[in-house]
Order: sequence, then structure tokens, then C-alpha cells
Amino acid sequence: MSRVYNFSAGPAVLPEEVLREAQEEMMDYRGCGMSVMEMSHRSAAFQQIIDEAEADLRELMNIPKEYKVLFLQGGASLQFAMIPMNLMKNRVADYIVTGQWAKKAFQEAQKFGKANKIATSEDRTFSYIPDCSDLPVSPDADYVYICENNTIYGTKFKELPNTKGKVLVSDVSSCFLSEPVDVPRYGIIYGGVQKNIGPAGMVIAVIREDLITEDVLPGTPTMMTYKTHADAGSLYNTPNCWSIYICGKVFKWLKRMGGLAVMKEKNEEKAKLLYDYLDSSKLFRGTVVPKDRSLMNVPFVTGDKDLDAKFVKEAKAAGLENLKGHRTVGGMRASIYNAMPREGVEALVAFMKKFEEENL
Ligand SMILES: *Cc1c(COP(=O)(O)O)cnc(C)c1O
Repeated sequence: MSRVYNFSAGPAVLPEEVLREAQEEMMDYRGCGMSVMEMSHRSAAFQQIIDEAEADLRELMNIPKEYKVLFLQGGASLQFAMIPMNLMKNRVADYIVTGQWAKKAFQEAQKFGKANKIATSEDRTFSYIPDCSDLPVSPDADYVYICENNTIYGTKFKELPNTKGKVLVSDVSSCFLSEPVDVPRYGIIYGGVQKNIGPAGMVIAVIREDLITEDVLPGTPTMMTYKTHADAGSLYNTPNCWSIYICGKVFKWLKRMGGLAVMKEKNEEKAKLLYDYLDSSKLFRGTVVPKDRSLMNVPFVTGDKDLDAKFVKEAKAAGLENLKGHRTVGGMRASIYNAMPREGVEALVAFMKKFEEENL
């Protein structure tokens, strides 16, 4: 067996400990005589898996009791529709567009009502986060929407926007559980788990209880109504049992690591290794305004397309995989999520130094 350092933006690296545990339990989950993939979602064994996953997540994020935790399917992209269908009572919502994912959410919301783009950083290829301290928030907005960490462009909101009292909805797909979070500042925090938590095919949504109602837009399908899933403890229909199981193991791993404050320190150290090198390099440069840099996704370029391609190819041969940038941006991107060990980032920086010496 040989594992590589996997810098994929998602699906992405998982903790080796978690993969080993799943391997050990694959044929016989704790004396059940079957794997979790073969188990009824109505069984006592699975109920314990989902209950523990929720309890551990609540502990990690310090989620107040007025918030529900939902395990949903359809990916983060389905939330682009579910959010307006459940929240747009006045049919007005304000969007801060800081990248492709926020843009997609903004475009989807236009199907359901008046979606206003109240700020954007598209003028400079989404390389920064706009000042959101005093935006023209609509008086009748049902919510203000952000994508907190922009996976493709590598920017992160270091301060939440001033929503002037409106409900804040945040897509945290690529920064989920990377640092402590102040849940009461949000109405909804949600993310696809395949970036920083677990296997693809599931979204976790943490939603303030008063936002979960039967008063949804006419025609909203049962499966797209938050209340359906909240009332059924995320077991209205068959959930993504496998993803819930692995996410649960990742939550326990995060607790063993010391929780989100410790993860933040580790993530800051790892990101600093890479950013410090980028700032000193004569060949590579980061593409994001330093104050808005993400700890999770680090895009960089040489400025020469052919050299970028050569770098990605040689890095792969050296066991550093998935460093090609997003197709809309080019260059390179290193995603250094929770499960990327510090040694992986050190190996990347060492390889970049060597490449710089050989190619400058
Ligand atoms: C990957 C990603 C999405 C889309 O996730 P799917 O689960 O593939 O729908 C949405 N938002 C952000 C920030 C992402 O990184």
C-alpha cells in the first residue's frame, strides 16, 4: 500500500485513522455481522451511529439547543434552492457574491424571488473579500447569504458581514470544522461534507429552530422542506448512512485531536508554511489579497501556463497529487484541509523549492 499526499479540493483527504477503523469494521460492524452499508437505517445500531454523530458535532461546534442539526442529501448545490424555498417569505434575499459557489446560489435564488447582489468581488477575479461592514441590506430581506470560504479562489471571510439584523445564511462547505464557530451569529450554517469532513453525498445543515416551518413557498417538495427532515430526525427517508457513519468517526477524531481551537492552530501553522514560502518565492506567487487568504484552499501560479502544467505533472510523479487549479482559474491550488498532515505541506514546500531552483 502506498498513499500519496492528496491536495484535492473535494472529495478530499480523510484522516488515516478513520479509514483504518472503517476497514476494521467493514465485514462485521461491532458484532452485527454486517457492514454499516448493509444495515437498516431503522436499526438500533444505526440509530446509535446517527445519535452519536449529532451529539459529537454539537459538542465540537458548541451548538445551542435552539438549533437543529440535519443530515441531508443532494449536495451543497441542492441547498441553493432549499434555502430560498424555505426562507424567502417576502421573496427578497441579499447575496454577497465572492466566487462561483455564491454566484450559483445567487442565480438559483432568482428563480424564487428577488435576489439582490449587494456586494461582489468579481471585478478582480474574486481575489478578495469586499468590505461588508455597511452594505445596502434590503429592509425586507428574508436573509443575507454568504459563501464563507471560497474553495475555488482561496478567500475567506475573516469577519462576518454586518447583516443589520437580518438572518445570516452561510455556506461553509470548505471550512467546516476548520476553526471554532459562533453558531448564534447564524440562521443557517451548512456545507457539503466532502471537502473537510467525510465522504461525498451529504450536507450538514445547522438551522435555528424558528426558521424551520411549514410556511414554505408554494410547491416546495416534501423532501425539500426542512421541517420534514427536522421532524424525522434526518430519517424521513433512507439517509446517506455511510457518510453519516464516517463523519461520526471524523467528529470523534477531531475531539481526540483537541477540538476546533486546536485544529485552528494546526491549520494556521500549515497555511503559514505555504504562504510564507509563496511570499518569498521568485517563481510562484499566491493569487489572493493576503488579509483574505483561506487556511484551507491555497491557489498559486507561476505566471506561465506551460510551467504550471510541468509543475503539476512533476509534483504528481513525486507523490503530491491533485494540485491542478480549478478549470476556471488555471494555475495550481493546494487544498490543505484538517486531515492533511503538516508533513504533507512540508513535502509540498520542499518540492516547490526544488522546482524553483531547477526552473528559474
Ligand atoms: C464544493 C462546493 C459546493 C458544491 O457542493 P456539492 O456537494 O457538489 O453540491 C458548494 N459550495 C462550496 C463552497 C463548495 O466548496
